[in-house]
Amino acid sequence: MKNIKSMLPEELEADILAMGEPKYRAKQVFKWLGRGVGSFEEMSDIPKSLRMKLEKEYTIYKPKVLSKQVSKIDGTIKYLWELYDGNAVETVVMSYKHGNTVCVSSQVGCRQGCAFCASTIGGLVRGLEPSEILDEVLFSQLDSGKTISNIVLMGIGEPLDNFDNVVKFLKLVNHPDGMNIGMRHISLSTCGIIEKFDELADLNLQLTLSVSLHAPDDETRSKIMPANIGRGVDNLMKSCKSYYEKTGRRISFEYIMIDGVNDTEYHARLLAKRAKEVCAHVNLIPMNHVEESRFHPSTSGHIKGFIKILEDEGVNVTVRRKLGGDVDASCGQLRRKMQKGNDKK
Ligand code: SAH
Repeated sequence: MKNIKSMLPEELEADILAMGEPKYRAKQVFKWLGRGVGSFEEMSDIPKSLRMKLEKEYTIYKPKVLSKQVSKIDGTIKYLWELYDGNAVETVVMSYKHGNTVCVSSQVGCRQGCAFCASTIGGLVRGLEPSEILDEVLFSQLDSGKTISNIVLMGIGEPLDNFDNVVKFLKLVNHPDGMNIGMRHISLSTCGIIEKFDELADLNLQLTLSVSLHAPDDETRSKIMPANIGRGVDNLMKSCKSYYEKTGRRISFEYIMIDGVNDTEYHARLLAKRAKEVCAHVNLIPMNHVEESRFHPSTSGHIKGFIKILEDEGVNVTVRRKLGGDVDASCGQLRRKMQKGNDKK
């Protein structure tokens, strides 16, 4: 059986025509799916005969809320969803002056092994289906009552390691008959799977590509990000440059400040050089402490000194505001806690 929520209206149209039904029904069904229905029965303006045909061909699944935490500090909401196979992923809804941003997961677990990240501790289980990523956005909006205007693919998983499904999700969420979220309001974050940069650039999607750089030199980067081994920072920069030249879209470098690891003057100067070479914007992230990790956040004094060097070098730099500090709002922490709970049983 096909998963109907992973289908674009055009694809649905072809199937519906083949069933001998008028093609406008596809749009009607797609719109119902966008309202979050969990069965064909709820599609009240679709004739019963067609609903029965659809039921035979397709599955519809609705994720369940396993846990919902609302930050008392800033209203950030963190959801843990149960998927059709019992796996769980996290989604975070953050409110800013310019609107509500949802941070979605793209995989169950992750195989990239970054040393500071909670999402990768249990390895990769599977990639999410396009519909499952879409559901994170849709049901976060429906449950919270907050209209989502921006999406960041910065939750659990490596989006470029689940390329086809992520691209399909982007087309679904961007569709005018669906949630209609503009590509310019979407950021995709990667640890640097450069083999996929060209393919992404060729799609000309107008989204923002964020690269989790976290260190400007191979020695430091390979220590904290295994994805750097065999690829290297020089090649990453070449790929960033070519992406920028192809798409005209500036890349953003994410940089977690880790005490004594990547926050020295040497790192700041080299980071500035790298950023200028590819016209990248630098987004510094105060590290969230992960229980299992041996790393600690940089001190605020160190962060200030680091910013000053970057600014003096003429780099465009921002510091990410910390939200949801009381709701485990850092990647993979909530799912990890649940796993640990299960481990004990
Ligand atoms: N795999 C993708 C997207 C998911 S991670 C990527 O690597 O970009 C999203 C962002 O959160 C990345 O920049 C990641 O490095 C960062 N991150 C992971 N663990 C963190 C922590 N403990 N504190 C702060 N940011 C963290």
